Amino acid sequence: MYFYDIKIYRTYKYKLRPNKVQRQSLEQILGCCRFLYNIALEERITYYESTGKGIGYYHQQYQLKDLFKTEGFEFMKCIPAQARQDVLKRLDKTYTSFFKGGGFPRWAKKHKYSSFTLPQHVKYDSNKVTIPKVEKLRMFCSRNIPKDAAIKFTTFKKQVDGWFACVTFEIDHIAPIRDNQAVGIDMGVTYFAVTSDGQYFDNPKHLAKHQRRLKILKRKLARQKKFGYNWRKTRYQISKIYLKITNSRKDFLHKVSNQLTNEYSFIAVEDLKLKNMTKSSKGDAENHGSMVKQKSGLNRVLLDLGIGYFFTFLDYKSIEKGSKLVKINPRNTSRKCNKCGHISKNNRKSQSKFECESCGYTVNADRNASDNILGDGVALSRKREAAACALA
Ligand SMILES: [Zn+2]
Repeated sequence: MYFYDIKIYRTYKYKLRPNKVQRQSLEQILGCCRFLYNIALEERITYYESTGKGIGYYHQQYQLKDLFKTEGFEFMKCIPAQARQDVLKRLDKTYTSFFKGGGFPRWAKKHKYSSFTLPQHVKYDSNKVTIPKVEKLRMFCSRNIPKDAAIKFTTFKKQVDGWFACVTFEIDHIAPIRDNQAVGIDMGVTYFAVTSDGQYFDNPKHLAKHQRRLKILKRKLARQKKFGYNWRKTRYQISKIYLKITNSRKDFLHKVSNQLTNEYSFIAVEDLKLKNMTKSSKGDAENHGSMVKQKSGLNRVLLDLGIGYFFTFLDYKSIEKGSKLVKINPRNTSRKCNKCGHISKNNRKSQSKFECESCGYTVNADRNASDNILGDGVALSRKREAAACALA
């Protein structure tokens, strides 16, 4: 076996144990960050409306020091300097994605804006973490950050169950170069994933399990007096359930991605663009949303399963373990016969049954798709290697 050196990013999450004063300081910083985000957004909007031009990140950052001197804004000094820059960078990022076709940046709402980030000046000392303006915070040190790690940034996050520090660091990593065990994976609704060598991963359906209780609580919430004591209590219970769903979903995705990257050194998946999928289900001018109902159901389930997270996990785990991940164009993967190559939508008799019109090949539909995905993945990878050789 061969090895090669790479640098990888890792994030460890620690639960913090702030005292009352510290908790107030953290809340205050978070509140001020949110306020800063909103005034920076407002500035961008009004500047654009009056001049027809945009303001960039550096311009806004330059103005910051004047802002803190302005009367009435002194309270914002509680934000550590680098966290301020991060707020403006976050806003800048939403603008960048807006220009690439994403949604227009939104106002930061109290329950949505839940974290602030510090790139430096955070010190760790076994079970204590020190940040500017809050002093030493105690934390549960569940595992140690490696000694040779270079800390890149820390995000302080407020959740229903308390405050957390998410530390992201860079370390040297030795990844093995492995022999080829190739696999194609089809993601679906009936099964979460089906591999080309016949492994079936069942769907966990986390949401459905908790759906009943959520429904009851939401009905209760609607009856209660808004912002009253009982209303807040119910809302707290609801967010606890959502947190539970998120945690068990991530846990499941970690397990599956671990297993796959352990077993295979070459993994082909479909390049699913979740945003495009949600868009396409609404239909366009030509194709008046046929299958709209079916598709929106599928999209909802896919989103529920957190395919986005899954691909992220698969991506970084492949790099760490020396596997190769290839994303292929999902077109025709479910309609093409893997035996003779005949493409027709009539090949797929039902959600689970595939029967080729041309050669009569009969197989589980997801299994046929995963075989196609593997074939396309290998072809794409060879093509890329040939192109790289031609350049060298
Ligand atoms: Zn066929």
